[in-house]
Amino acid sequence: MKKEFVVIGLGRFGGSIVSELIELGANVMAIDITPSKVDEYADIATQAVVADTTDESALLSLGIRNFQHVIVAIGENIQASILTTLILKEIGVPKLTVKAQNEYHKKLLEKLGADHIVRPERDMGIRVANNVLSNNILDYLELSEEHSIAEIIVDGKVAGRTIIELNIRAKYGINIVAIKRQESIMISPQADEEILEGDVLIVIGSDSDIHNFEKKLF
Ligand code: ADP
Repeated sequence: MKKEFVVIGLGRFGGSIVSELIELGANVMAIDITPSKVDEYADIATQAVVADTTDESALLSLGIRNFQHVIVAIGENIQASILTTLILKEIGVPKLTVKAQNEYHKKLLEKLGADHIVRPERDMGIRVANNVLSNNILDYLELSEEHSIAEIIVDGKVAGRTIIELNIRAKYGINIVAIKRQESIMISPQADEEILEGDVLIVIGSDSDIHNFEKKLF
């Protein structure tokens, strides 16, 4: 059975979620209060509907309670985002992902019980900052305030040595969860695995440990 989602708010963020979910084979009901936005997605989404999602009866008449996962991507209008989230929680939507504009908005959404809160501009800003700061860090994914997963491309000191020789966990406090080598990926590599130039290490750890590791070895 195809996975089914509702995306509310078809700005740049919500719109790209709709297109990508469809691309990945999901069914998506796309909702926006602005008819021109809905027109844009009429041929892309499984169903595209004009509705004001701060109106509970409008949401109920769309059968929103039958969907497992709703994504609220209303941006500028924080009041509409909060009201929509509140109503969706009351209706009992099982899973709710909501975009927050700022820290206060995020805190409020947490209190309302949103399951997953995203701040796309901020998150992307952090990733870009890490990418530009280091030539070796290809990607950076924040797990919490202090912990992240990073993709680090191998050159220099590390190439030709094994994970155990480098004593990575004990010395740097980070774990290599996978190694990407050309087209293949090794999940949980063995300690005696030799690291080659061009490998991409996927590491997990605290931000400071990851940066220390990257600074010392690359
Ligand atoms: P982005 O920064 O991702 O482009 P925007 O704030 O521009 O986000 O877009 C949010 C979308 O949410 C807009 O298309 C807007 O029409 C829609 N929206 C705002 N309020 C409501 C509402 N009450 N019900 C449904 N959609 C809404």
